[in-house]
Amino acid sequence: LHVQADLAAGAPVLLDEGQSRYLGTVMRKTAGDALRLFNGRDGEWRAVIGEIGKRGARLEAETLIRPQAPEPDLWLLISIIKRDALEWVVEKATELGVSVILPVITQRSQPARPNAERLQTIATEAAEQCERLTVPMVRGVQPLDGLLRQWPNARPLIAAVERDDVAPPPPQTSSPAALLIGPEGGFDPRELDAMRKLPFLVPASLGPRILRAETAAIVGLALLQRP
Ligand code: SAM
Repeated sequence: LHVQADLAAGAPVLLDEGQSRYLGTVMRKTAGDALRLFNGRDGEWRAVIGEIGKRGARLEAETLIRPQAPEPDLWLLISIIKRDALEWVVEKATELGVSVILPVITQRSQPARPNAERLQTIATEAAEQCERLTVPMVRGVQPLDGLLRQWPNARPLIAAVERDDVAPPPPQTSSPAALLIGPEGGFDPRELDAMRKLPFLVPASLGPRILRAETAAIVGLALLQRP
């Protein structure tokens, strides 16, 4: 379970109403039961439930099970696509180890704005499910052009451009890095022209077929995995 509290031997951990209801009702946990906690900083801890009720719960961290290990510093920039597809991408990108997810507005992205809180909850649940010890940060929606104007040069931006472009596959880059995926309708030609002039942008192809944006995100992240 992901918690906000600091974790150390004997540290008290208080859970809010939502989390204690989940533990009591869904997980059927009662006082005396043990569970595993992480907070993104202190590794994974075995904790025991002291008290649990409808309004909250009090746990105590006992022993360190897994120390915190360094994780890739890989960002995913994804143009806003249909809600279900975007939510699916957030879940899968979390499983694939991304550190930051940035939904971006491009010329042809979907007009609806995603619910950042819901996307963050999906990322948290996916992190718990796949047993990573951090939760990716889901940033608020930003226009791509503004983001690129203040882009840190030291972070290569691997842009999945269309298959027709003469572009090599994504390079074996070490972190920090970022992957950019366009919307269902692809990038606008003028947008692509402007992007190509950026020194930190690495155009990359994901193969000869047109992939849906959500497939492209997963394929790109899979190709950027380090052993
Ligand atoms: N409208 C575009 C077309 O007809 O060619 C297709 C856009 S595709 C559905 C959505 C996004 O996925 C693209 O903007 C790109 O970022 C990525 N993508 C899909 N297939 C790709 C490929 N073969 N190589 C690189 N990127 C790809």
